[in-house]
Amino acid sequence: MRMETAKHIARLIDLSPSPYHVVNHLAHLLAQQGFQRLTEGEGWSLQGGGRYYLSRQDSSLVAFVMPENLTRPAPLRLCSSHTDSPTLKLKPSLLRKKGGYWLFDVAVYGSPIHSTWFDRDLSLAGLVSGLDGEGKVHQVVFQVENSITRIPNLAIHLNRGLNDSYKINPHDEMSPIWRGVTKEDDAGFSPVSLFQHWLTGQGIQLPAGWTASHWDVMLYDCQKAAFVGEAGDLVASSRLDNQVSCFAGGLALLDHVQGQPSGGNTLAMLACFDHEEVGSLSVTGAEGNLVESVISRLYRQPEDRWRAMAQSWMLSVDNAHGCHPNYPGLQDDNHCPLINQGVVLKSNPNQRYATNAATGGYFKGLCRQAGVAVQDFAVRSDMACGSTVGPPLSARLGIATADIGIPTWAMHSIREVAGVRDMGDLRRVLSLFYGSS
Ligand code: ZN
Repeated sequence: MRMETAKHIARLIDLSPSPYHVVNHLAHLLAQQGFQRLTEGEGWSLQGGGRYYLSRQDSSLVAFVMPENLTRPAPLRLCSSHTDSPTLKLKPSLLRKKGGYWLFDVAVYGSPIHSTWFDRDLSLAGLVSGLDGEGKVHQVVFQVENSITRIPNLAIHLNRGLNDSYKINPHDEMSPIWRGVTKEDDAGFSPVSLFQHWLTGQGIQLPAGWTASHWDVMLYDCQKAAFVGEAGDLVASSRLDNQVSCFAGGLALLDHVQGQPSGGNTLAMLACFDHEEVGSLSVTGAEGNLVESVISRLYRQPEDRWRAMAQSWMLSVDNAHGCHPNYPGLQDDNHCPLINQGVVLKSNPNQRYATNAATGGYFKGLCRQAGVAVQDFAVRSDMACGSTVGPPLSARLGIATADIGIPTWAMHSIREVAGVRDMGDLRRVLSLFYGSS
């Protein structure tokens, strides 16, 4: 079962080079199990035990299962995570000419480990927005499947300091090379028209008479996820942070509806946000009003809402730093989670994580009930602590929250590593969580 879950999640990550693809694949999974699509701009008529989902601007998603009985406000069981990962995104100008080549003009998104983006087979995916002949806007989510670009390293002979303390300049040294400039290119084609023409040649379906005008397009690594290690129980892949949590949360919600087809006594909800890697403050981010607006439509009377929130729990699910044997001094060896040794509960008294005594105890109780091991994480007392969507969302919604995740090596590398066993255990404890009293 754990390997089956890990393989399923790895396949979904392979199919999801951008947040738009994460949302598409989650929506597809949910629709197959009877979840109905809602739109924020229309009225909702919700049934007891009904299954629903919506996306905001195609890069964030909320799915929920109504409780069986709608006559009294049910407590919320909210699992939150993020759809975005560190990457390189195309700037408005798309391309620039340099040294006889066309380079993709990119901005660094979030905090990738820069060196890991060199010498990889890269391609493009995301959303392109454009105008048709009548001035109507159309958006197209696309993925170019084959590798079309690379960021080559400079030969060691030309940079003798490369293995010492060389600092990469992302503006000058991380532009992926697309192709050589030709004489025809110099005949006055704009980068946008060149690029649109090329996209059409890649088999991307674009509306007739359509002209690309703006985009959220990112680079991704074409290498698929691999099962590695002596026992094949480690998963190496791009975007484990945090697509693992989005897809584990989605599969667990499907387990929940299979176990409680009539909806049970809770309002089970999955929320996957964009823009966590850049601070979450956006219309599709966790600091936006997406979940708050959905909740206010589900609990129509303020009194009902606040009574329900007081009985609600949230699990904020994001990857944790796995203990790295080559860097023993950089983690608190008393709170250093091992890969494949259990789901991680993250605590920080300075509120970088939302876990407190009550929610930590609640989560450990859930793990015991699920038969899942749990490991504590805390940062060294002389180091700054990372954060995630848990603290702002918990404060905004007024829901008691625990920050959890699975241990990961090389977080923000283009190729991260996590454990098969942990992925299965995360799904298991989340499926129990959605229906827990
Ligand atoms: Zn993350």
